Order: sequence, then C-alpha cells, then structure tokens
Amino acid sequence: MPIHELSPKDQWRRILGELEMQLPRPTFETWLKPTEGLSSDDRNFVVEVPSPFYIEWLERRIYQTIQRTVEKLMGAPLEVTFQVRPDALAPPGTYDDDDRPERLPGAAIPHAPQSARYNFKKFVVGPSNQLAYNASRAVVDSIGLAYNPLFIYSGVGLGKTHLLNAIADACFWKGYTVIYLTCEQFTNEFIGAIRNGTTEDFRQRYRQAHALLIDDVQFLGGKDQTQEAFFHIFNELHGSGRQIVLTSDRPPKSLGLLEDRLRSRFEGGLTVDIQAPDLETRMAILDFKARDMEIFMDDRLLEMIAKRVQHNIRELEGVLTRLVAYSRWQQPQSLGSAGSTVTREVASRVLDDLAANSPRHQTDPQRILLEVARHYRLTVAELLGKGRTKKVALARQVTMYLLHTDLEMAMSATDVGRLLGGRDHSTVIHGAGKISAEINEDPHLRQDVLTIKEAIFSAPLPNDITR
Ligand code: ADP
Ligand code: MG
Repeated sequence: MPIHELSPKDQWRRILGELEMQLPRPTFETWLKPTEGLSSDDRNFVVEVPSPFYIEWLERRIYQTIQRTVEKLMGAPLEVTFQVRPDALAPPGTYDDDDRPERLPGAAIPHAPQSARYNFKKFVVGPSNQLAYNASRAVVDSIGLAYNPLFIYSGVGLGKTHLLNAIADACFWKGYTVIYLTCEQFTNEFIGAIRNGTTEDFRQRYRQAHALLIDDVQFLGGKDQTQEAFFHIFNELHGSGRQIVLTSDRPPKSLGLLEDRLRSRFEGGLTVDIQAPDLETRMAILDFKARDMEIFMDDRLLEMIAKRVQHNIRELEGVLTRLVAYSRWQQPQSLGSAGSTVTREVASRVLDDLAANSPRHQTDPQRILLEVARHYRLTVAELLGKGRTKKVALARQVTMYLLHTDLEMAMSATDVGRLLGGRDHSTVIHGAGKISAEINEDPHLRQDVLTIKEAIFSAPLPNDITR
C-alpha cells in the first residue's frame, strides 16, 4: 500500500522499520521503539514520545537521520516534531506509579532523593572544585551527552558525595530516573541477586535508568564478579546514551585490581579531580555553613578557623558543630532562640582542644616512613637507602616535607636527616623546600601528599608500631 494511504500511526511504523536498519539496536530499542506516529500533513510529521527526555535526546542525537528517513519515505522534506504523550506513560523504568507527583521543588514527595542537604545550591565553588562542579552541572544540563562517563576523584571529605547527590537531586527534578548507589550497595545487591537467582531482574533494573551514579568505585577493586556485572551494565547504559557518573578516591589509572577494560571505560569520558580547598574557599565554605546553622562570626574569626583547619571540609564542619555546642553552653539564654554568636575565646578553645587531640601529635615518624614507602610502592629500606631513581628521590623528599615542614612535628632538619639514613641537614632543607614549592603548582603531588596524610591519620596499623 502506498505510504500516503496509511494512517499516521502506520506511516511512522514504516519509517521506524527503515530507521531500525540504520541505527544501533540499543539506540533504536530505547529511543524509537516507544514512539508513535500521531499526525502528518504536507508540512509536518508529529510523533508522540513518552517523556520530555525523549524529545531532547532525539533532537540532539539523531534528528537528521530521522528527518532524512521521513523525507525519503514520504517523498517530501517534512518537519518532524515530537510531542509528549498526554497520558505520559512513564519512560522505561520510571516510577511505575501513574499518579506521579508534580515535580515542585521543595514539595514532600515519596521519591525525593535521599538528601536535601546535598544539592548544587549548597555547594560552595572555588578554584579547587570549580572543574568538578562545572562538569557536574553540564551533565545535568545535557544528560548522557556532555561527558560520559564523568569520573570525579579526590581525597576524603572534599565534596564527591555531595556533588554526586546534587546531580541526583537535579536530575530527579528534571524528571529523569536516577539510580544512585555506593559501590558497596551495588556489590551487595549483585551478590544478593546471584544468591536468589535474580541476576536478570538486577540487570533489568539498571537498564531502566537515565542516569547511573556510583559513589566510591575504588571498592570495586578485586571483586571480579562484580566488575564483570558492572562492565556489562556500564556498556548497556553507555551504549544507549544514558549518563554514568562515578566517584573514587583516586584516578582510574591508580585503581588497583581493576580489569583494564573497565579502567579504560572509566577513562573514556571526562576525569576531573577536586583538590584541597585554598584558604579563601575554606573561609567561604565556613561562612556559608555558619549562616546555615545560624551562627554568627566575623571575618577575622572565619579566617582564624580556616587557617587552622586545612585538611578537608568535613573537618571544618566538625569544628563548626563544636563551636555551636560550646557557644550554646556558654550562653544558655540563647538556647532555642535563633542563632548564637561565636566569640574569639570560644573559637580559640575549640581549636586548641582540637589540636591537643589531633592524631598528628601522636604520630610516630616510623609510621610516616612506612606510609610514604607504601604509597610509592617502595620498601622502607629503599627509602632510607642510597638509590637515586626518580621515584625514590621524590618519596624521600615527600618524607622530608612531611616530617620537617608539614606535620607540625617540628622535627629539625638534622633529626630528619639522621632518621633518613644519615643525610645532611641541608639536603633535608632543600628536599622539603622543593616539595613546599611544588605542592602549590602540581595537583598530583598535592593529591599524593593528602593521600599519604590520610593514611597516616587513619586507623592504627594492626601490629601497632605507633606505640
Ligand atoms: P567526599 O565524598 O569527597 O569524602 P563529601 O561530599 O562527603 O566528601 O563532603 C564532606 C562534607 O563536606 C559534606 O558534609 C559536604 O556537604 C561538605 N562539602 C564538601 N565540599 C563542599 C563545598 N564545596 N561546599 C559546601 N560543602 C561542602
Ligand atoms: Mg564520599
């Protein structure tokens, strides 16, 4: 039957038949199969789609292919327009309730993301996190199109989980189906699925997401079966234009025990890091959080605190919480009323207490040697020895920097030299100084040092060598 005698529905079916041969199967199945021809005249061909998300995707990704095919079959250069089906059947896998609530920000609704605390508005942007922030916004603005996957890495407490939740939150309000999981949860679900023989359901669930966000993928390391499952889910979603965002405490190339093919998938989009915030950003964050908690501090106080609390933002928050507790305790009359003012005395006390309890004062130099060696995959003997390869030299200088300059252990250059296998104090001063200078320029070095410090201050070693 000539195409012009068919109903628009059947005309579109024929066009789809043609498109099916031109496009990759996942693309066709995901984006075109659920569409329907609605009407056509000599200028327009109107197609119904299940959600606004489809319009955006189809127009941006394959509009030309569609238009060419329509022109070929209909014999005229028709304008193809997409329109959301009025009874909006949920897109594949969206919440299967028909009475999906209006997406009004702030409204209490059953599927709201876990965390209202973590959204873009509450993320303070500075030079250390600007790139990661911009990339996250871009991902939400053109989901599946901008950077895919987006891989964000940083040391602890610098905002990865916050950004990931902000992406989830923003996607949710735009009507996308988002799956947000920690790597641990993913692994547990997968193991559960194997146990219950429901791996097909497991994969089906992921196939339905517009965006898959997984936090802390470093924990995939060494879990071969989970990696295998994740690899397939990744490919399926990525292949059909869904967005994937991953976070980790280190870049893909440093993820140990990860299959190469998965690593190269992780590197296939955009990789950004978040660095430790500089003083101004720390002040801005502190200011923002203090206002949020209705605590009042002047700029000098903000600066004083931000100067002393340098490692990460979680630590800054910890200090704020203490400040509130102390201030309320000192000014009981302000209890329950709006806000409290932090005095300089209270701030000094909190900071001094913190310093006194800080693990750095209990850190043994041996522990530092051990963690540096471990980080650079050397033995302590190599670190103390005569070797002069680039790696050993760098590790040694980082040790000097940590002992002499950074950790407030106030070890003299002479003592550090002695500890490092009898080196001259001028060598120590030179080495530590070199790292001090480079750490401001080189984000990788900064990351290395942060990672080592985290290791130093983390749980004691099993065979406690730190006394
Ligand atoms: P990570 O996942 O990298 O370990 P988180 O995202 O959990 O770090 O951040 C730790 C805390 O610091 C959270 O409470 C988070 O809200 C806060 N935080 C991190 N970065 C920022 C920022 N740029 N602005 C405001 N708060 C931040
Ligand atoms: Mg986190």
